Amino acid sequence: MSEQFGKVLVIDDNAVIIRLASLLLAKKGHSVQTANNGSDGIAFAKSFKPHVILLDVMMPEIDGYEVCRCLKADAETKDIPIIILTSRAEIIDKVKGLELGAADYVQKPFDHEELQARVATQVKMKILWDDLQEKNKLLEELVKKDGLTNLYNHRYFHDRMVEEFNRCKRYGLSVSCVFMDIDFFKKINDTYGHQAGDAILQKLAEIILANIRDVDIAARYGGEEFALILPHTSIENAAKFSERVRSSVDETDFQFDGNSIKVTVSLGVASFPVNDPKTHTDIIRFADEALYAAKTAGRNRVELYRK
Ligand code: GH3
Ligand code: MG
Ligand code: MG
Repeated sequence: MSEQFGKVLVIDDNAVIIRLASLLLAKKGHSVQTANNGSDGIAFAKSFKPHVILLDVMMPEIDGYEVCRCLKADAETKDIPIIILTSRAEIIDKVKGLELGAADYVQKPFDHEELQARVATQVKMKILWDDLQEKNKLLEELVKKDGLTNLYNHRYFHDRMVEEFNRCKRYGLSVSCVFMDIDFFKKINDTYGHQAGDAILQKLAEIILANIRDVDIAARYGGEEFALILPHTSIENAAKFSERVRSSVDETDFQFDGNSIKVTVSLGVASFPVNDPKTHTDIIRFADEALYAAKTAGRNRVELYRK
């Protein structure tokens, strides 16, 4: 994207300045919106979402410094670069604007080309900044996720378990932890190949996602092991959920390369407060022990932690 597409908001109480700045910036391909007072300016900054704001310092009612302060205090507008328009030559006024978070200033009467150049620079910076923010957000999502299943990963599961366990304990709410492991997965891989195994892991993630609520956290804990956090869920309800997933997997016909593959899973459930885990480590260990019990009891079943 080029700066040609930048949106500029001009806030000035002087109609002549507004007209001149609009003309100069439109000539450079920017789309321009104008406000002739501070409060309209703040409102337009939110609705128009400009790349740059040209802001007059001297205005009646709300002056430019106050507008700048408001824009910088609002998460929605704080990253929009502001170019202060000052007719005062005193260095102190320029410094004050910059201290309030303005990116640059232009002194009136301004040189036309200088104004255009300074606006273009800030538009370019803002476009780069927005792009960076977007990429950061994407990266933040990616580091939480498992690449194969797109479920959360081991680390994120642990972070959230600490958070959810402590929160539910503090407020006296129940929270359940479920561990799920594929039965005889090694044999499935050996018989149908690793790619078939991968496809099964992906399909299982879909089945899990189809059965959880928005507040639940589903993670791929390890190779063929899944872990879930069910906040505000008693052990009875966690058991019902687990049984639903187990039977759904049992009834699913996993198709790969023309083969119909039979898959079953074992699940272990532990809950706060009924199992009396003292820490998040306890509840994870209890769920894992319950899973182990489900394996030794014959697999394709749900076991609750009992103690
Ligand atoms: P059990 O019922 O006791 O759980 O038996 P199992 O064969 O499932 O358990 P085991 O721990 O012996 O084997 C786990 C297998 O999971 C071995 C490993 O190759 C496979 N596995 C782990 N991660 C992946 C993966 O990402 N893709 C595939 N295809 N297989 C995986
Ligand atoms: Mg003025
Ligand atoms: Mg297994």
